[in-house]
Amino acid sequence: MCLVGEPNLMLLWKKGLLVSLITSAGVLLSACGASQTLRALTPEDFGMTCTSDNVCVDDAARIGEARKLNRHALGFVAANVGPIAQPPRVLFCSTRDCFAQFGDPTVAAHYIIGFDTIVVNDIGWYNFIVRHEMIHHWQAEQIGPARSSRMPRWYLEGMAYVLSKDPRDPLPSPEIEGWRDQFNAWIAKGNDWRVPPR
Ligand SMILES: [Zn+2]
Repeated sequence: MCLVGEPNLMLLWKKGLLVSLITSAGVLLSACGASQTLRALTPEDFGMTCTSDNVCVDDAARIGEARKLNRHALGFVAANVGPIAQPPRVLFCSTRDCFAQFGDPTVAAHYIIGFDTIVVNDIGWYNFIVRHEMIHHWQAEQIGPARSSRMPRWYLEGMAYVLSKDPRDPLPSPEIEGWRDQFNAWIAKGNDWRVPPR
């Protein structure tokens, strides 16, 4: 059992009851890699500097670039997907070693469901990547972190790849292309992305 994406634990977290669980389950969490994820809660302890608008960087010289990417993604999602009630914290790593402190360093970015946090890797400093992760935050806000973690991948990822207007052709894997196609076919039948499939 890992912490992130575990619906019952996420509900406890939302109720502020998880602190004692984290302490008592420390061995378990580190055994499944979730200790990396917990670090995202205190990025300042891991070499990051955070601003009042919830943007964190490991390289202070890139704060302007990071804030611009964040502002763009927030505006894009609000205009094209739906309103965001509470913007997430966004950690921008300029090195792979920085990102590896928080998760699998082979990905460009990830959204930590239940923690309202996006982490961007050194290869992820692109508008379409931050838009994609911001859509995952919108999904968590709309559907709730527990329920959204149980939604089908084609819906969550298909929406994120399609609505972010990801310019890659082909997308990174045949599986992802399949999710995109399934999402597009579902929309073509008249479904609204704001109303999740049953
Ligand atoms: Zn995604």
